[in-house]
Amino acid sequence: MAGKHPWGHHRKGDHGCKLIGSQRLMKIARMPDGSPEIFHTLQGEGRNTGTPSVFIRSSLCNLSCYWCDTPYTWNWEDSDYEHESPEKFRREEEILSLSPLEVAETAAAFGCPNFVFTGGEPLLQEKAWLEVMDRLATAFENAYFEIETNGTIAPSSEFLDRIHQVNVSPKLANSGVLETKRINTEVLASLAASGKADFKFVVEQPENLEEIETLQALSQIPKSRVFLMPAASSLDTLEENQGWVSRIALKQGYHYSDRLHLRLYGAKRGV
Ligand code: SF4
Repeated sequence: MAGKHPWGHHRKGDHGCKLIGSQRLMKIARMPDGSPEIFHTLQGEGRNTGTPSVFIRSSLCNLSCYWCDTPYTWNWEDSDYEHESPEKFRREEEILSLSPLEVAETAAAFGCPNFVFTGGEPLLQEKAWLEVMDRLATAFENAYFEIETNGTIAPSSEFLDRIHQVNVSPKLANSGVLETKRINTEVLASLAASGKADFKFVVEQPENLEEIETLQALSQIPKSRVFLMPAASSLDTLEENQGWVSRIALKQGYHYSDRLHLRLYGAKRGV
């Protein structure tokens, strides 16, 4: 990655191989060119759409959604998960092990104070993100942290103290994942009570609304915190679905979330 690291080079030569900071290694998604999936772009969804941000994509997920657009973070060759694409992935080709210091240095090098932690499911590596946040907060006075999570794992109070915005995306029956695995109303309710969480639902059919309303009521999610986003993996499907999803959002008093990325870049990785 280009750019000067704000902490200089803390890493000793390959022989000493000692990092200042914890030795906990993070599993970060690896791009086909071998670099970590850490990139500078505009946030494409939710409340902060259009905000310049540095995305850090961690590997590993505790769910296996049928239509997941990042199956290279979890759909390993020795697993029997079903996915719309038959492609399976090799861990050694898709994961980079980096220290929180290396992750923070790489992200900070873009010179942008807004950071989005995504996955996979980033909360599987919660402790390491604490260290990443502490390092970035030292480097940027106005550091702003956002996380995208599936809402099945409760973050700790230390994590909630540091994070500014939690984008929860609970998975509906259309994900193909068992309800007992994908929905934890206690976790959703505690995130709703934190006052830092928005809840983004991917809507495929008008019938999904009933499921969303039930979850909203059970987890006591304020309407003002709900975002409906059309299911789409291409600009064509986005344009097909945006009309009716936006009309439902308007009628129900929910927000509508677009998919700015699809409009700007198409279904590409690392942008
Ligand atoms: S929770 Fe997110 S990352 Fe995990 S499988 Fe589902 S869509 Fe993919």
